[in-house]
Amino acid sequence: MRIEEDIKLGFKDVLIRPKRSTLKSRSLVNLTRNFYFKYSNQKWSGIPIIASNMDTIGTFNMAKSLSEFNILTAVHKYYSINDWNHFIKSSSKDILNHVIVSIGTSNLDFIKIKQIFLLTSEIKYICIDVANGYSEHFVSFLKKIRNFFKDKIICAGNVATGEMVEELILSGADIVKVGIGPGSVCTTRIKTGVGYPQLSAIIECSDAAHGLGGQIISDGGCSVSGDIAKAFGGGADFVMLGGMLSGHNECSGEIIEEKSKKFMLFYGMSSKSAMNLHTGGIAEYRASEGKTVKVPFRGSVYATVSDILGGLRSSCTYVGASKLKELTKRTTFIKVTEQENCVFNNVKK
Ligand code: 5GP
Repeated sequence: MRIEEDIKLGFKDVLIRPKRSTLKSRSLVNLTRNFYFKYSNQKWSGIPIIASNMDTIGTFNMAKSLSEFNILTAVHKYYSINDWNHFIKSSSKDILNHVIVSIGTSNLDFIKIKQIFLLTSEIKYICIDVANGYSEHFVSFLKKIRNFFKDKIICAGNVATGEMVEELILSGADIVKVGIGPGSVCTTRIKTGVGYPQLSAIIECSDAAHGLGGQIISDGGCSVSGDIAKAFGGGADFVMLGGMLSGHNECSGEIIEEKSKKFMLFYGMSSKSAMNLHTGGIAEYRASEGKTVKVPFRGSVYATVSDILGGLRSSCTYVGASKLKELTKRTTFIKVTEQENCVFNNVKK
């Protein structure tokens, strides 16, 4: 047994230090980034935020709405090939340019993704997603996908440490998805005792990825737009959101009405709710590692996304970053023991 002495940090442990700036207005901030990827020889330009491939969040409707903001959606893996066919036929080139196809690591996943890419060549991204990206099987599946889809941008994860980021990039990933246990409906840290505070994971993993010409997605743990700014400031190239995009028209999920207020169910992909829906219950050898919550129903995702992007532009102006790309260079984190003033948090609206 060994103990690492330096304390690892989450978003709530830091703030970004303000810096002198020549920017006159947040409207001058450019959130678009231009990426060129290590293996796929593809370029992509857009706002590097991704709707999570959770079945309630990564929906076709979400992809249609978020493409208008130049934001990506990782479409979940539970749509049938018929659903995909219908979506692709009814979607513009621009919408498909903002879609990531998610898959697991089974033979059926491999067959299905081949079928999807027979329907269109407009989609550029594949995300190979497993809860634990440390397995040999995962690495060999990644190599197989890289070999078969030479021109696609491949994201693979999840991991949370530099050495595994390097292994995945050397095995064919253009982008590595980072996050073990930070998610809003995740209970992995409680069930297993395993995890890594997200901000430190971002700082360490982005360093490892950038050293090899790869990129990272920070996946999970953002609860306000300030957290997204901290993730980019820490070195994340992309930020994936689940909970922050939950409870909207574009989500799929049961709507419940209580005392004339509307709520929507949101659950982790390893929760009992998800397993009941997709795999006929929890297998005997495993435990649920996700929870189900009721979130207030918020209508269209447009207002939420506008608010997030406004917050992010403002973060950039506080440190004098005219482009999102400059945010990391201009970020100095200060360790803190306080975040916001909570004095009115219990006052009813
Ligand atoms: P959020 O943005 O809600 O904090 O985090 C979203 C991320 O949480 C997802 O993209 C996914 O990586 C992770 N996640 C989703 N469902 C589960 C789950 O049931 N268990 C665990 N461990 N992680 C989950």
